[in-house]
Amino acid sequence: MSNPIGQAGDRHAMLHPELHAEHDSDAIIRNGQRLDHAEGASRPLHSRPEKQPRGAKIHGRRPVDQAEAAARFIAAPEHEKMHDERLWDLRQKRDREMHGIPEWEELRSLASAIKEHTLTRLDEYLEEFESNARSNGITVHWARDAAEHNRIVHGILNGHGAKSLIKSKSMLTEECGFRAYMASVGIEVIETDLGERIQQLDNEDPSHVVVPAVHKLRTDVAEVFSGTLGTDPGNSDVHYLAEAQRQATRPLILAADAGMTGCNFAVAETGTFVVCTNEGNADLSANVPRLHIASIGIEKIIPRLEHLGVFVRLLSRSALGSPMTQYASHFRGPRAGGEMHVVLVDNGRSERLGLEQFWTSLKCIRCGACMNTCPVYRRSGGLSYGATYSGPIGLIIDPTFNARKYSNLPFASSLNGSCSNVCPVKINIHEQIYAWRRELVKRHEVPLVKKAAMKAAGELLSRPAAYRAAIAAADAALAHLPRFVIYNGLNAWGKHREVPHPPEQTFHSWYQANRGGKS
Ligand code: SF4
Repeated sequence: MSNPIGQAGDRHAMLHPELHAEHDSDAIIRNGQRLDHAEGASRPLHSRPEKQPRGAKIHGRRPVDQAEAAARFIAAPEHEKMHDERLWDLRQKRDREMHGIPEWEELRSLASAIKEHTLTRLDEYLEEFESNARSNGITVHWARDAAEHNRIVHGILNGHGAKSLIKSKSMLTEECGFRAYMASVGIEVIETDLGERIQQLDNEDPSHVVVPAVHKLRTDVAEVFSGTLGTDPGNSDVHYLAEAQRQATRPLILAADAGMTGCNFAVAETGTFVVCTNEGNADLSANVPRLHIASIGIEKIIPRLEHLGVFVRLLSRSALGSPMTQYASHFRGPRAGGEMHVVLVDNGRSERLGLEQFWTSLKCIRCGACMNTCPVYRRSGGLSYGATYSGPIGLIIDPTFNARKYSNLPFASSLNGSCSNVCPVKINIHEQIYAWRRELVKRHEVPLVKKAAMKAAGELLSRPAAYRAAIAAADAALAHLPRFVIYNGLNAWGKHREVPHPPEQTFHSWYQANRGGKS
């Protein structure tokens, strides 16, 4: 692979000439060369940085083993701690922002009501959007599934002889396996979002819907960039790495044949759509080349422009704890002399709309707040889910794509309900997770051992006398049984934990003794 940094190494080609001002008294000189400020400021790396744990191993349609991948993530303490703290920080910032908006709960209810209203009349609003978008000069396509989406985009690019495509972050295109498809037909895709570009260069999927590389330490990024962009492997300074990526990618952006964006909200009334970013990269993707293609999931429709404010106020506050994204770019039609195409993608959404217990998952605005608050997600990393969507929202969306493959995921939750509490569109996430567990048992997608254990537990818990007798027997057994009987391969719970010492008195017996069974 060529070395774009080397090519861009001409210092006069720097995008930020202030980085190498000649009379900078703070400049650090090495071998007669001035180091850019970030290089100069960086600290040496830890001699042996912790290796980045990789995501779930995928074996065809076999159920993804989230627990196995999570165990590997937990076994990398620097990564686990950083991931947990970074996401908890986002959750706390979200809380601060929320407390600054007295009408927060009203906004959530309104957002939920608008989405539910739209979803129950989705066909009408989609047609309204299509008609208005066409009037604005946009060519509208409909894609039944991921394969059709990819074929349509390929057809548009072929029609323009396009060989390279710059693209802003879009979970829908991840869902469609778009980059792999484009690689197979010889079209180069360049991600313009920094986190997504890091993941692309590392040949990894995004691990979070908003911050795709949040599971990586700086040292991981330094390793990826040194192998792909030719940066100094010993330099993990964030400014140095970001600038190196910019120097390498900007020429590719300027030379790209076509641009692609996703969409946060598509307004039926105006036929326009909005993309929210913090880097302005959607504007680069949409405005630098003459050809702009937008992939839009059909659930992104909102009826009127006046509804946009409700969602924009909620989105970034919930996602990152900031009042709004740096950019909320509105796209109305092709630029002068250009072309704009919109691909409206179903890919299982119509089917999900018909699922009585799960249709409201289509209200999701992909803010990631449920992931940031989830104790399982924070400590196991997004890639442990082995699916496009991870965290609580993933647990209820992924099985709609493939119930067998993702049959373990709804069990990766403590059902504490924090996800539902933070969700800006009031999706009853934890209830849907629980509903999926029952659904998977009904569909025989749960391992027999787990099913039998759950059945036995259910029967025991429904008979108070038998339950109390079993607890008394277990307490006695735990005190006397040899260790290998309790901690063995069949006891997954005991792999990482000690069974607590049983109390001398159960709550029930204390209650009987002290309250006489009366409340
Ligand atoms: S389910 Fe709710 S909290 Fe989770 S990503 Fe979607 S909108 Fe955000």
